Amino acid sequence: TAEVQALVRLANEHRVPLWPISRGKNFGYGAAAPRLAGSVVVDLGRMNRILDVDVARAHCVLEPGVGFYDLYAFLQKEKLPLWMSIPGNAWGSVIGNALERGMGMSPYGDHCERLCGMEVVLPDGELVRTGNGAMANGALWHLAHHGFGPSWDPMFMQSSLGIVCKAGMWLIPEPEATAQAMLHLEGIDDLAWAVDVLGALRLQRVIEHVVVVFNYLEQAFLVSQRADWYQGKGPMPDDVIAQVIAKLGIGYWSIPLRLYGYEETVDANIRVIQKALAPHLAKPVEFQKWRRGEPIENSAANIPSVLSLQAINWYGGRGGHIGFSPLLPLDGRRALEQFRANKARYAEAGLDYNTTFGIAERFLVNINMLLYDRDNADQCARVTRLFDTLVEDSRQRGYPEYRTHLDFMDRVAGTFDYGDHALRRLNERVKDALDPNGILAPGKQGVWPRAFRGLSASAPAAEGASPAARR
Ligand code: ADP
Repeated sequence: TAEVQALVRLANEHRVPLWPISRGKNFGYGAAAPRLAGSVVVDLGRMNRILDVDVARAHCVLEPGVGFYDLYAFLQKEKLPLWMSIPGNAWGSVIGNALERGMGMSPYGDHCERLCGMEVVLPDGELVRTGNGAMANGALWHLAHHGFGPSWDPMFMQSSLGIVCKAGMWLIPEPEATAQAMLHLEGIDDLAWAVDVLGALRLQRVIEHVVVVFNYLEQAFLVSQRADWYQGKGPMPDDVIAQVIAKLGIGYWSIPLRLYGYEETVDANIRVIQKALAPHLAKPVEFQKWRRGEPIENSAANIPSVLSLQAINWYGGRGGHIGFSPLLPLDGRRALEQFRANKARYAEAGLDYNTTFGIAERFLVNINMLLYDRDNADQCARVTRLFDTLVEDSRQRGYPEYRTHLDFMDRVAGTFDYGDHALRRLNERVKDALDPNGILAPGKQGVWPRAFRGLSASAPAAEGASPAARR
């Protein structure tokens, strides 16, 4: 941490922009690349100590380089009764992912909400501890979010206002039992009722995790490539999609459902879910149960995996992807409209549509991947145009992106336009006050410090993972 402070001071002296990363596996959103070419990437990957694990109060304290695999391996090796929440791509770090507001399919799936108490190097090199860590001997640093006065943890999420060198992360106390089921729904229109019925169960906290509704392609790319099914141009026709679904024995939609808790409550919740689904299904959904002591692999615990990255092989070649990730209100009708509209946009661009709708209590996270072959210039150009179109569609519907790729940060920031971009002006005032030389992550999330302002429209991103960076 002292070295990070020294580096930040040096950067101020020489006016060199820095771009901190934890493990740089922010795939689909820019990976390790900085927003501004010429930035020095501060790779914190070697700050990878697990500083503390507190079983009784179910949390840990981590340095930013600790990966999901590292923490999982540690908890398993030490046989600690603590579970983690893990995003689809588990290659990255626990802290980096949470700072970016990543999500997982566990009861603690909204990762930034479980980050509690940080140690941060500010853009001038000063070190602060947030929340109750501001008491030098604070006993509640990683246990209670709020200290005395304003809370600053959220200020360091998706921001360019500090380098987080340490943070507390809440862990899931191992439950007595879990149960899980996979729901396969045949018809595209089933999305609407599924969101409404499962959303109501989520809102009542019968289901406690982000319920992710995957479309067929999210299953197909795990085990095959497009060319295995179809070699023609344009999006895969519906009759081919029907063959994929039949061959893989899935639905158009697949929805993993998971329950956690005491055996009695898990059993009761299974009955509640079966009753809610009964009017829509030919036969009751079957749950597989797990009890403490049985192998964790059979439970509904999150286990790190990078299988989802198989997506980039769909078109073959040097695969890449960018994520288009708007939020919608929890509403089945709106979800179906969004699905149809996006699918049509993908078809206009000649691309297959893959999507997930995550039910996150009061809202839906609609993660759409745009897949491409990096060596196919025409496809890259179509992906870039499609992304621009989707952002504009989303703006018109009032659906915000919760996260975006480097190349589109200015564009997405521009959609938060209330009061003639009052939020941008607030962001800039705070940025200039804390980082007068503009050395920390200039341009991140579309916030440009005074020193670089005006560059935003034209600034090329550093060579990133996206097709746009290659224009
Ligand atoms: P991961 O660890 O999941 O691979 P990254 O290291 O790619 O995640 O981080 C994603 C983004 O989050 C970075 O580009 C950076 O903007 C921000 N970030 C990550 N770690 C930190 C940190 N320790 N301090 C401040 N910002 C960070």
